[in-house]
Amino acid sequence: MVDSETRLLGVMGHPIRHSMSPLMHNTVFRKLKLNCAYFAFNVPEGKLRDFMKGAEAMDFAGLNVTIPHKVSVMKYLDETSKEASLIGAVNTIKFNKGKLQGYNTDGLGCVRALEESGVKVKGKRILIIGAGGAARAISFQCLMGGARELTVSNRLEDYDRAVELGRDLKVKLGKDVEILRLDDVDKRVLDSIDVLIHATPVGMHPKVNESIIPAKIIPKHLAVMDIVYNPVETKLLHDAAKKGCKTIDGVGMFVHQGAEALKIWFNIKNPPVKLMRETVVGKLTGV
Ligand code: NAP
Repeated sequence: MVDSETRLLGVMGHPIRHSMSPLMHNTVFRKLKLNCAYFAFNVPEGKLRDFMKGAEAMDFAGLNVTIPHKVSVMKYLDETSKEASLIGAVNTIKFNKGKLQGYNTDGLGCVRALEESGVKVKGKRILIIGAGGAARAISFQCLMGGARELTVSNRLEDYDRAVELGRDLKVKLGKDVEILRLDDVDKRVLDSIDVLIHATPVGMHPKVNESIIPAKIIPKHLAVMDIVYNPVETKLLHDAAKKGCKTIDGVGMFVHQGAEALKIWFNIKNPPVKLMRETVVGKLTGV
């Protein structure tokens, strides 16, 4: 029940209507008996400054940030974590005794989901497909987590975006990253890596019959993660599972980025990730 002591939280972005975060976090608040309420705020680009002023004035406890504000919100913050500074984007904000602190839990969420499935990043050869916001966060976290080799691939139209990400990783972490055109990701490339992370919207609802990688070139030794989480089992994951690959769905990353945010906001040591996953999967599959 909402009362005069309820703490406010939420996710802000544009568009925001399909966000699963309110359902997931409010379920946790009920379970842990935290007097908090989590909303979805539709904040167009021109309204970001007003929104941040309002959130501060209303004594929010925390926020998640999504497209298109992950970079532009940084100018309203007092401090940013090491990860957020390196990645250059924020997805979580803590309102901490008058200070606005920014974090990025997307990359860590991905790495935690891999680990939960028994796939360690340390020592692995990893290929990330995509060079957008999520791919950027994941690539920094994979290298910080000790990946042995990292390759980033983007489609030809925006190949420069991958080149820029590679340059950024080299400058900030001192690590060399291979950059590939999507068209050049063939069987030989997949045979030479351990983990494939797909970080583009291809295969997302409603275009569920699309996959970025032809089934016939997927080798069975590969661990395959798709960060798309609607549907839970994308065509890429379906094809990979049929080949005998270990597969990790995008709900894992979504749940763990949220769990890391809960740790930041409330110092919760072990967020109820099982409940969070069941809640999100239940909503996505209608079960
Ligand atoms: P983004 O910043 O817009 O980047 C999208 C990336 O996908 C870019 O590299 C883009 O290439 C590429 N791309 C888009 N359409 C493509 C196509 N038809 N063929 C090949 N490449 C294509 O988006 P994002 O924030 O990184 O998110 C990417 C996906 O991950 C979305 O589906 C999002 O829902 C999902 N996601 C999941 C989680 C999770 O917790 N599971 C978290 C964040 C995001 P260009 O550079 O050429 O445009």
